Amino acid sequence: MWLQIIMIVVAVPFGLDHPKSLFAHFATAMHGRHAWVRRVAGVTSASMPDVPDEPAPNLLDLAEQAWRGELDLRFEHHPVHRYYPGACRLTDGLLGFKGIAGFYVVDSGDGLVMLDAGHLLDVKRCFEEVRREWPDTPVAAAIYSHHHVDHVFSVTAFDMEAEKRGWPRPTVYAHERVPDHFDRYQATLGWNTAINRRQFAIDAPHYRWPESYRYPDVLYRRNLTFCRGDLTFELTHGRGETDDVTWTWIPERRILHTGDLFIWAVPNAGNPQKVQRYVGDWADSLERMLPLGAEILLPGHGLPILGADRVRRALQGTARYMRSIEEQSVAAMNRGLSLDQVVQAVTPPADLADEPYLQPVYDDPSFLVRMVWRRYGGWWDGEFDSVVPAAKREQAEAWVELAGGVERVIERARASSAAGRHAVACHLIEAARHAAPESAAVHETRAAIYRENAGRQPSSMARNILNHAALASDQGRRDLASDD
Ligand SMILES: [Zn+2]
Repeated sequence: MWLQIIMIVVAVPFGLDHPKSLFAHFATAMHGRHAWVRRVAGVTSASMPDVPDEPAPNLLDLAEQAWRGELDLRFEHHPVHRYYPGACRLTDGLLGFKGIAGFYVVDSGDGLVMLDAGHLLDVKRCFEEVRREWPDTPVAAAIYSHHHVDHVFSVTAFDMEAEKRGWPRPTVYAHERVPDHFDRYQATLGWNTAINRRQFAIDAPHYRWPESYRYPDVLYRRNLTFCRGDLTFELTHGRGETDDVTWTWIPERRILHTGDLFIWAVPNAGNPQKVQRYVGDWADSLERMLPLGAEILLPGHGLPILGADRVRRALQGTARYMRSIEEQSVAAMNRGLSLDQVVQAVTPPADLADEPYLQPVYDDPSFLVRMVWRRYGGWWDGEFDSVVPAAKREQAEAWVELAGGVERVIERARASSAAGRHAVACHLIEAARHAAPESAAVHETRAAIYRENAGRQPSSMARNILNHAALASDQGRRDLASDD
């Protein structure tokens, strides 16, 4: 079962071609996980899923290959979707894990400190690998880089262990906004279930967003420094993927934990379904890291970067990318352009196009522009017909009637797709779907057109959302994440 889960996580970026049953297994596994996490330190091994037989890869070897541009980050070694089993000793006293997110455990000389805590899928292997490396050293502290569910779960296992062994519970440090976001998750469980089914193309009726969270113990606003054993942990707040980001500097070891401010891809600052993200502030944080002279960069996703020159290049390149997107977008907005015009006006810096850590394999650069618009603009996109619009169905019926009926629109949509005008084909078939929601011919064409467009997207986020529409039309529906 556990091996299946791993395979499914690995398979998600290949979801276009994989049977839906894979996603159903994933959902079942996720659904059962909450109770398991609560019991993790007390259950018998027979009731826990097995660690996969596949040997743990050497993350340092992969990191070297990634830096040289030798890894397929779009599929096989996707920085978010690829799950590597086991753990890897990155240097003395530093254990690295890469599940959906990367997370790390450092030996301070007086207890272990976790830099992020992984996803629910990581809890068991995190506990086992930490205990294999350090059988009797308590986890003294953990730092959450932000509130996202791929970064916060494994502390639970060490809380339970502490209770059993009579140790103090780990102290969890986080930015002061983190608890508000956990509260927000609990208030919007249905919404977060729906949007993540789309983002990860999970066709799984039982999939549910996690309901319970391990809240932090110590909150801070701008900076916080604590010492443990031989090490100093300097926490700094920033805004980027979220407004509750913490990045951590350990000066004695020259280790920089960026959290999701660095993810081995175009930064995830544009995600179409998520709350506000911060493109320019992202650059601010990366620029603040530069003078530290870090020698080990531990990222939120993807593989570590080793060596001061490489770390500098990665931070500088990513900062310049984000600064450029923000400045171009704001300059276009200052000309009073519409959202569409702003999106068309912005291009990422061409000289960074070949940097292996800045490929658009997760977020799509145009999504970042839209996020800048949302930060400084309103919900209106600047198109005069959309400020008090007709219902989508009413609009679609008018266009389809003008075109001469649904069959004509289907025909034109297929022709557009065949001619390589995939986005236009999606617009046309979507109008047909709104005008004729029950039509089998519309759904058959819609599934084919979205699937074709999905397969051409370098961004897995775009690919999965488009693929989600195809999966829905396979079932004669508009959207599997709602009752539509
Ligand atoms: Zn993350």
